[in-house]
Amino acid sequence: MEELWGRRVLLTKQFSAVLDAYQTFPAMIDQGAYMRCTRCNTELLKTAILLPSGFYYCPSCIQMGRIDSSLQLIHQAEPANQTREVFLDWQGTLTPAQEEISIALCHSLAQKKPHLIHAVTGAGKTEILFEAIYRALKKGGRVALASPRVDVCLELYPRLQEVFPKETIALLYGGNEQKYTYTSLVICTTHQLLHFYHAFDFLIVDEVDSFPFQGDKKLAYAVSQATKEDSCLTYLTATPPQALLKEIQASFIISQLPARFHRRPLPEPEFIWWNHWAAHSKKGTHLGKLYQLIDQLSQKNHVLLFCPSIHLMDCLFQHVQKHFPDLQVEKVHADDDQRKEKVTKMRQHHYQLFLCTTILERGVTFENVSVIILGANHPVFTKATLVQISGRVDRKGAYNFGRVCFLYDEQTVAMKLALKEIKLNNQLARKRGLVDEL
Ligand SMILES: [Zn+2]
Repeated sequence: MEELWGRRVLLTKQFSAVLDAYQTFPAMIDQGAYMRCTRCNTELLKTAILLPSGFYYCPSCIQMGRIDSSLQLIHQAEPANQTREVFLDWQGTLTPAQEEISIALCHSLAQKKPHLIHAVTGAGKTEILFEAIYRALKKGGRVALASPRVDVCLELYPRLQEVFPKETIALLYGGNEQKYTYTSLVICTTHQLLHFYHAFDFLIVDEVDSFPFQGDKKLAYAVSQATKEDSCLTYLTATPPQALLKEIQASFIISQLPARFHRRPLPEPEFIWWNHWAAHSKKGTHLGKLYQLIDQLSQKNHVLLFCPSIHLMDCLFQHVQKHFPDLQVEKVHADDDQRKEKVTKMRQHHYQLFLCTTILERGVTFENVSVIILGANHPVFTKATLVQISGRVDRKGAYNFGRVCFLYDEQTVAMKLALKEIKLNNQLARKRGLVDEL
């Protein structure tokens, strides 16, 4: 049954008729005082998860459907790989630096070695993958491109479909109504990997440093379970945490790309001091500095205004709307029902000023934008977040004087480190002859 190949899902009536040919696992394993969930590997104190029926349940992965100790998981092995025809339709060319990494990645794939691609924002990471994905599919392998963030999956899907027009691609994320069917190429959130077991020959995890992947043991387990024993695991990131680099440096092949494909340096953030930005933004007092900045930036580009909280964004939205009656202004946050539509409209240049929370820090590409980070010293803006947000500017198209402005009232370590990292990448890129000066 194709639907079960490489999957590990709850045994339901639908599958029980053909049980013989399948492998089953107990959903939860008794470990004395603890129960361990087979799906997410969480160990839970029995007394905390006892049901009135006498069975135990796992609260840790409950968003994927309730699992308890009376149940079983079912799995069927992937069929053996068979070489086949694959059609890659990409007319672009890689820069020599991208090409070098693409070749190295194909090598890792052939050798089944883990690989980390550390490439700056806007470096063209996705294009680097095409050749390796093509080769893996051609050998009859199964490939997944997973990201902790839904927005990233939604942006990757049309791009991959365009390049592999003859492949059926499954797009899997929580809340997607589409029924699961077997495909050789899968784009999914890292949570969805919990439903796979020994499925993938080539698993790429994009934005490996981002929430919720970082620090969630469940998702690291999901990755380890979803790959075949003989497979190539690849991590992509623009902002690898030190702890991750340390953990993998002995075992992973690491490729670094400090420059963007268009050979322009990364925009370096400008620090703009604005005392009591939080209070003023809430009350709508002394907003002159912010208004002036919006006015300047919106002459040339659309403006993304990142806010540290939804409440502050809502307050500010009202003030700026009143002050700029002729400007098209919109706002978005994670739980916004129209999130997808609004982001699409922003991509189509409908809004001159777009207020948002950190949900747009990565994975999205808008043309001709400048960025303001309101309260860059707020704890929500970590170094990686600041680097990622700065990386939204000047990603594609002709150079349009996009700027990155950190509004702050007290400098933080994160701000200083973000600036340092961006400058360092530019220096490295210059040294390697990968950028042209503006
Ligand atoms: Zn669980």
